[in-house]
Amino acid sequence: MKKQYLFAPGPTPVPPKVLAANAEPMVHHRGPDFQATYVSALERLKQVWRTQSPVLLFSASGTGAMDSAVTNLCAPGERVVVVVAGAFGERWAKICAHYGLDVVRADYAWGERPDPDEIGALVRESAARVVFATQSETSTGVVSDMQALKAAVGDAILVVDAVSSLGAVRLDTDGWGIDVVVSGSQKALMCPPGLAMVSVAEPLWDGLGQSNSFYFDWRATRKAQEVFDAAFTPAVSLIRGLDVALGMILDEGLDAAIERHLRLGRAARAGAKAMGLELFSPDDDSSAVVTAIKVPEGVAAPELLRHLRDRHGVTLAPGQGALKPTVFRIGHVGWFDIFDIAVALAAIELGLIELGATVERGVAVESAFAAYELPVV
Ligand code: PMP
Repeated sequence: MKKQYLFAPGPTPVPPKVLAANAEPMVHHRGPDFQATYVSALERLKQVWRTQSPVLLFSASGTGAMDSAVTNLCAPGERVVVVVAGAFGERWAKICAHYGLDVVRADYAWGERPDPDEIGALVRESAARVVFATQSETSTGVVSDMQALKAAVGDAILVVDAVSSLGAVRLDTDGWGIDVVVSGSQKALMCPPGLAMVSVAEPLWDGLGQSNSFYFDWRATRKAQEVFDAAFTPAVSLIRGLDVALGMILDEGLDAAIERHLRLGRAARAGAKAMGLELFSPDDDSSAVVTAIKVPEGVAAPELLRHLRDRHGVTLAPGQGALKPTVFRIGHVGWFDIFDIAVALAAIELGLIELGATVERGVAVESAFAAYELPVV
């Protein structure tokens, strides 16, 4: 028997209550049994998004909702600004290029935090109508300030990828005036992969053109959701679990969940530093989703990850792109507590020692607990 531990920033561990809801017997999606769940899940999504506008729910991974934003908002040839500071900014750029948009890139080095004022200037200079950005760049651990970005881009439509941050990091959709917010089920929302969501601010609806996607047509989806029907067969089992998971988040309280993630980030960073490791992600409270850490001299990150998985049943996330050989990541988004961080840190410490690295022994877990207890102001 080997117990498995998952510390990836998606898919993330799914609470037993959610798994149990996923496993309930099938019901017909147009009958009253499912409709009650659908009504509840759609309402709870709006609460977690902090919006009065509709949140559209699709059967897809998060990228499906990203794709829908591009195909519903933009026409081929249209100039858009895309903020690129890691793998998921690159994904926005690829989707936009795929649909023939004229992409103006606001490029930043991986690990750098995009500058809202620079992006605002680029938007004005390029006369772009739509800006695509990433709140939590999961590949680097950098979380950007979407409130400042919206203020800087003014009247341009801001589309935010919050796939790895929604429910873990503050995102006040209506309060900050964020036009479109995209997310997915398998991160802070504590569900299996397979559901994608997108909020579309009320003022955008009048100006929407014809969708370039049939399946991800926002207007058709809204029309169906308004009568609590789904445009196509919805992912019944996943939506049952989603409703339970959203209920758990709202019971904890959105603010409390966000503070928990902030503390988990503090704990992970304190533990890594205490054993002598260098952080790749920023060493501040914004790093609440994933902690990216550099491997010490003499150990390759893929070797450490393989060792922890095969020998100890502990799965961490690899570095992405050029960071693969030197960086690994602890995901702490979703159903995590301080004891999970203790397990991750203890496993990293043991694994590194077994691979011959020199690390400070026996201090990481204690430092993590101490950092977790510090007050949040
Ligand atoms: N954006 C971000 C920030 C992500 O972390 C991910 C998933 N890792 C995605 C987009 C893509 O989501 P999916 O894999 O669910 O399509």
